[in-house]
Amino acid sequence: MPSLHYFAAFSDSRCIEGCDHEHATVASAVACISTAGGYVIAVENGQNRELNTEEERQFQSAMFGIETSPRPSLSTGWVGWPNLLDPDEV
Ligand SMILES: [Zn+2]
Repeated sequence: MPSLHYFAAFSDSRCIEGCDHEHATVASAVACISTAGGYVIAVENGQNRELNTEEERQFQSAMFGIETSPRPSLSTGWVGWPNLLDPDEV
C-alpha cells in the first residue's frame, strides 16, 4: 500500500532541514513552516519528491492564500470576439 506524507523543509544556507513530522496534508506541512523560504516536500513510499501540480496548488493556497481558479470552459466563460471584428463591418 503506497504511503504518502509531507514535511516542511527549510533551506539552511548549506543544507535542507525538515521538520520531524509526517504531515497528512500539504496545508498541515505549510503550517509547520516558520521561516521565509520554507517549502514542502512530499514523501511517497519513503522517497522524497517534489510536489505535483495539485499539491503545488494546495501549497500556494495555504502559503499565500491564492486560489487558482480553473480555466473557464469554452461553454460558460467565453463571450466571443467583440463585434468590431465582424468581417461584414470591415
Ligand atoms: Zn512539521
